[in-house]
Amino acid sequence: MLAMMIGFFKGLWQYRTEVKKQHKWIVRYTAQKNYALNPSWMMSTNLEIWLSEMEAIFGKRYCPCFEPSGNAKLDKQMMCPCEFIEDEIKEYGTCHCALFGSADLDKAGWKASSKRLMSEYQVPLNLKDGVLDTRGMPLDPRRNLPIPDAMHQLKSTLNSYSGNTLKMIVEREQEVINLEKIASYRGYSFAQEAKADHFEVTLQFDGNAAKGTNSSCGS
Ligand code: SF4
Repeated sequence: MLAMMIGFFKGLWQYRTEVKKQHKWIVRYTAQKNYALNPSWMMSTNLEIWLSEMEAIFGKRYCPCFEPSGNAKLDKQMMCPCEFIEDEIKEYGTCHCALFGSADLDKAGWKASSKRLMSEYQVPLNLKDGVLDTRGMPLDPRRNLPIPDAMHQLKSTLNSYSGNTLKMIVEREQEVINLEKIASYRGYSFAQEAKADHFEVTLQFDGNAAKGTNSSCGS
């Protein structure tokens, strides 16, 4: 809990200017669409921090719960507010990340959607002897992307990882591209090797493991 609070305030300080900008459009959009904003200040602010970080790393305001897919059409659909919002509000009462919800969603409804989100992301990771195998996670039915994806698995790992080097096994080339962007943004050394049916990425932190926000959707 203490680590989470420290991470939150660190992220808020790092992205303080961007978070203000995110908050402005989010409030305006919420009113225009007659939605509600997540009533938990910490949750909605965390989402504004993660949106700011997605924009800083990938150049566009992608959904903070999914790394870019490399499919131009899907990536456009995933820019926040995404094209899945109405459909997901119908299903869960909120969008996937529980940033926006229906205007009449009660406290129990917000709580249930946050719980759903946490159950998707707080899963055991396949980390052994400094090797994180990110493959085999369930796919989101609308985006056909893994939850949690390689980026979120990296963030979760770094919350408690003490090693200086982490090897990651990923399935798709786009995940390698995304990890390289994250490494470049955070100052990690990066190397990759293509194997027959997967890719191996090696990240070396050189004391920078805690750089950026390692809290993520569902935490
Ligand atoms: S799921 Fe919510 S936070 Fe994520 S892109 Fe869609 S509207 Fe934005």
